[in-house]
Amino acid sequence: MGHQGKHIAIVGAGPAGILAALEARRRGARVSLFDTNEMVGRKLLVTGNGRCNITNVHAAPERYTCPDPSFVREALGRFGYAETVQRLRECAILIYATPDGWCYPLSESAATVAAAFDAALRLAGVELHLKTKISDLAPAGAKWRLTLGGGPHTLEADRVIVAGGGKAYPALGSKGDLFPILERLGHRVVPIYPALVPLTAQMRPFHRWQGVRLDAGVRLYEGDRLLGEAVGNLLFTDTGFSGPAVMDLSHLVSTRPEAARAGALRLEIDLLACHGEALEALVAEQRGRAVPLAVLLGAVLPAKAPPLLLEMAGLPPEATLGDLPEERLRHLLQVARRLTARITGTKGFQFAQVSTGGVDVREVDPRTMASRVRQGLYFAGEVLDVIGPCGGFNLQWAFTSGALAGAAAAEG
Ligand SMILES: Cc1cc2nc3c(=O)[nH]c(=O)nc-3n(C[C@H](O)[C@H](O)[C@H](O)COP(=O)(O)OP(=O)(O)OC[C@H]3O[C@@H](n4cnc5c(N)ncnc54)[C@H](O)[C@@H]3O)c2cc1C
Repeated sequence: MGHQGKHIAIVGAGPAGILAALEARRRGARVSLFDTNEMVGRKLLVTGNGRCNITNVHAAPERYTCPDPSFVREALGRFGYAETVQRLRECAILIYATPDGWCYPLSESAATVAAAFDAALRLAGVELHLKTKISDLAPAGAKWRLTLGGGPHTLEADRVIVAGGGKAYPALGSKGDLFPILERLGHRVVPIYPALVPLTAQMRPFHRWQGVRLDAGVRLYEGDRLLGEAVGNLLFTDTGFSGPAVMDLSHLVSTRPEAARAGALRLEIDLLACHGEALEALVAEQRGRAVPLAVLLGAVLPAKAPPLLLEMAGLPPEATLGDLPEERLRHLLQVARRLTARITGTKGFQFAQVSTGGVDVREVDPRTMASRVRQGLYFAGEVLDVIGPCGGFNLQWAFTSGALAGAAAAEG
């Protein structure tokens, strides 16, 4: 493919920058792709615990958190799950979906995904500039001038796509250093906080629960106000709670530092959210028998939980169903459905999978990811104020916004 088209510079070779580069090359643009890392898709290697939860069958707009829901709807309507699967296939990345829609590569390996993208970029003729930091961006007449490293080297391009990520997991390259530059260019940057991150909590009442992992329901309150709720995998840790159930709510904690400090945030955990009906049916069948309560609870909860739960409900470990008055049984089930912990904050950017906040989407065209503030400037990926829950939604957003930005920058 020749280089007759526009010259597009892309800052950041994460999944958003990679898709942008491939889409722009398909349309004949010359593409220069920059990253401070020594490889493309560095962060991909750690996704999905090394397995890369690459997208989600149910990547619908309402699953995302964005101040303007129509922004995500417009974008996903143009390049969504189906288009992504097709592009991944073209890059020799084959995927499968779990019953709940989470998608992974057949290889079960994030490393093969990063390698496939690297090959696709090279095959397409994208000019890769690795180990190269872009330290400044400025309009230069009808073009854009990028400063490489600390200068004095610069590069001019017709269009710039900023795909530098947010501030999550900074060790892998996304440190947020482009945001002050974007502000200087006139863009509003919504304050940035950690998201999809473990919560910290006062764990004294739960110190022996450390290591318990189960599917549970969680509800987060500020005072009496319900901020959010989720059902999913939950892990009790030494400092708080981890797992998708609480990580999906974590932006509601990190964006309320004062409330967390004032002790106003409370997490209610329903240990029976998934199997409560099965347990109640079993209890009804076994009523009157001297079967140990720990055994009944153990039918639906991990082994460590029943004795701890009995203690919390004020019952001895050897208590049986047979001699238990009805109201004490109800109390036990109520305790299991409403464990309450005081939330003190989150584990911070270092442990966050994404960050919330970023470039204000009201200043970006959802069809093209073009800046409404500066001609020839585009955005893709986590740099925008859009986050999704655990489950492949954030990589899908990177692919969606990257593909739209790459196509529009080449054509526009
Ligand atoms: C531990 C972990 C697990 C995750 N698991 C999943 C998962 O399973 N599924 C899922 O959907 N999402 C997951 N995510 C989130 C997902 O990785 C991100 O949403 C996604 O990588 C964002 O893509 P991006 O291209 O916008 O940014 P990034 O992937 O962060 O890429 C941005 C790139 O820009 C480069 N850069 C930044 N500034 C500059 C500069 N000034 N000059 C040059 N280069 C620059 C950085 O080096 C970086 O490589 C996970 C994240 C983490 C940290």
